[in-house]
Amino acid sequence: MTAQIISGKEIAERLLEAELQPRVESLNNKNVQPKLVIVLVGENPASKSYIRQKEKFADKAGILHETLTYPDTITEIELLNIIDDLNNDTTVHGFMVQAPLPDHISMSKVVDAISPIKDADGFTPESVGNLFLGEDSLQCCTPKGIIRMIKESGAEFSGQHVVVIGRSNIVGKPVAILALNESATVTICHSRTQNLNNYVAQADILIVAVGRPEFVHGDQIKEGTTVIDVGIHRTDEGKLVGDVHFESASKKAKAISPVPGGVGPMTVFSLIENTIEAAERASI
Ligand code: NAP
Repeated sequence: MTAQIISGKEIAERLLEAELQPRVESLNNKNVQPKLVIVLVGENPASKSYIRQKEKFADKAGILHETLTYPDTITEIELLNIIDDLNNDTTVHGFMVQAPLPDHISMSKVVDAISPIKDADGFTPESVGNLFLGEDSLQCCTPKGIIRMIKESGAEFSGQHVVVIGRSNIVGKPVAILALNESATVTICHSRTQNLNNYVAQADILIVAVGRPEFVHGDQIKEGTTVIDVGIHRTDEGKLVGDVHFESASKKAKAISPVPGGVGPMTVFSLIENTIEAAERASI
């Protein structure tokens, strides 16, 4: 079996034209210019590269964006005051604070300070609570993008066994709940799971967010599984790989997302979609 490639890059570009640009246009017709602000603290090169991707996609969608950059000597109070200003700035519809933050600033205090109606990342306790309740809200970007790309690949959730490896607050737990809300039967695995292979082999849809290069191999999955690879790692040779061994898994899977060009672009897509959604709600 040669797997269908679930190209997040292609899906994001297609949905950009089919959905995001028309939504922006109709906001513009009401004199609303959706605006995203990204807050960057410090000089982390990976953060800068992620931000460039977000800015590029925001440009393509036709929304306004601004990146506010501060030195890593900024105090927690100063950053919380900036967040307060963004919460109160009516020209800003969505904003996010790029992780990681320096050690002297608490990410959870920062996230708590973000108004849920402008929570472009979908990280605030209220957004996460709404996601668990199945209520409408701005959803966490990577999980939202994963669910969308699985649907776009043609796979069904209802009654399917979704196995998630990883239980982080930003990927594993929320994607499991979103799959449950889609009526899948869900198993969440983590570092204390015994007999991990038993669960992996049962998956109709396998979502791997383990943070270990090429952790899952083709011999562990059943024929016909849909595999979503969330991980991203650079090898010593400079090659980008995921949490799944692509070559072996793509021989058994029905469909598989590549790295790069899989989950990453869908995460960016969801961030811009969340900003547009926030602008739509603010303009009702
Ligand atoms: P994380 O916070 O490090 O969580 C990793 C999870 O994997 C944990 O729940 C951990 O279990 C579990 N785990 C570790 N070793 C395991 C093992 N041997 N067997 C089973 N489970 C194991 O990572 P994350 O933030 O969820 O991210 C996961 C990966 O996705 C990373 O490579 C990250 O860079 C990537 N990522 C990509 C995007 C994107 O947009 N493309 C977005 C976010 C993350 P415990 O909880 O028991 O420790």
